[in-house]
Amino acid sequence: MYAYGVRGAYNARMESLYRETDARAVRAGAAVLHGMSAEKLTTYRGGGVCERVYLPACVGCAAEFWRACTEEERGEVYILGGGSNTVMADGEVSRPVLLTSRLVGIERVDEDASGVYLRAECGAGVAALIAACRRYGCGGAEFLAGVPATVGGMVRMNAGAFGSKTADILFEAEVADPSTGEVRAMKREEIPFGYRRGTEGFVLVATFRFPFMSAEEGERKRRGYLALRRKHQPRAPSCGSVFKRSIAPAGALIEEAGLKGIREGGAEISRVHAGFIVNVGGGSARDFLRLAELARARVEELFGIRLENEFEHLSDDLPF
Ligand SMILES: Cc1cc2nc3c(=O)[nH]c(=O)nc-3n(C[C@H](O)[C@H](O)[C@H](O)COP(=O)(O)OP(=O)(O)OC[C@H]3O[C@@H](n4cnc5c(N)ncnc54)[C@H](O)[C@@H]3O)c2cc1C
Repeated sequence: MYAYGVRGAYNARMESLYRETDARAVRAGAAVLHGMSAEKLTTYRGGGVCERVYLPACVGCAAEFWRACTEEERGEVYILGGGSNTVMADGEVSRPVLLTSRLVGIERVDEDASGVYLRAECGAGVAALIAACRRYGCGGAEFLAGVPATVGGMVRMNAGAFGSKTADILFEAEVADPSTGEVRAMKREEIPFGYRRGTEGFVLVATFRFPFMSAEEGERKRRGYLALRRKHQPRAPSCGSVFKRSIAPAGALIEEAGLKGIREGGAEISRVHAGFIVNVGGGSARDFLRLAELARARVEELFGIRLENEFEHLSDDLPF
């Protein structure tokens, strides 16, 4: 009864918010979609249905939409790229999503003695960025080969692997402010990058500086990194590493705790790499979260280390 009342009040607030936000989206050139499933939106492929999804047709449309929204609306909207670090709650999710999947342009904008500058829209995928490097005679993003991320997600999360990270290759980003909605270009040095921490705000475009590299060398690196990833990481649907690295890799601690292969419903602590929770068929967000909590509790109990989430939870902020 209590839960229903809170849910009802929340839904009523979102319904009134949608009316305004929908109108702003249409005016700015964003499609308004209803009822998109986690299966389509996230790489874990488990979870519920998102009631409202805004799909801007161009970067200018996205910027215009963001600027036209009130601060409250911007606070509610979840920006979604590849959904490869996102677990979406089960059931109905009322929190509106801004999906960047149409913002995929990549162009070569400059070149100097240090390399080639590529400007990529936030929805462009890692694979497309690596392919563009090959096309323009440069390289440096290969360390992320096989990661189903977008440029916006990379910059937001400072995605990294094999000793390299997004902050190493970024030159500048055009970021829309969450409070004012205004867009400003931020040089790499202005962004307080940390471990899996990048920009605040809406990353619309990122310009990368890549050193010169032959297509053959780039391809050799890409294949090398991909082979390493395939050897050590599961292929089943997941959201990548569930926890951030602490004083030891989270996967090693979870394996040490004897949890490799443990299942909850349709989710499993991967047998290939215990730092991943994979969807082995019909896995829900609840299954995922239960396993994550189990791993956190067991690791804390055994090693006194409290693991911190790396994934983001897209859910309505309700007390149940
Ligand atoms: C198989 C697999 C392997 C992975 N390997 C790695 C790895 O090696 N290293 C690593 O760091 N991560 C890895 N990940 C996790 C994930 O790919 C990264 O965190 C990635 O940066 C997320 O990008 P995304 O576009 O999918 O983000 P999403 O999941 O869509 O979003 C993640 C966060 O970024 C925000 N966001 C997305 N787009 C924007 C934008 N345009 N502006 C502002 N905020 C935005 C979202 O609001 C959310 O807070 C892996 C995931 C998978 C599934």
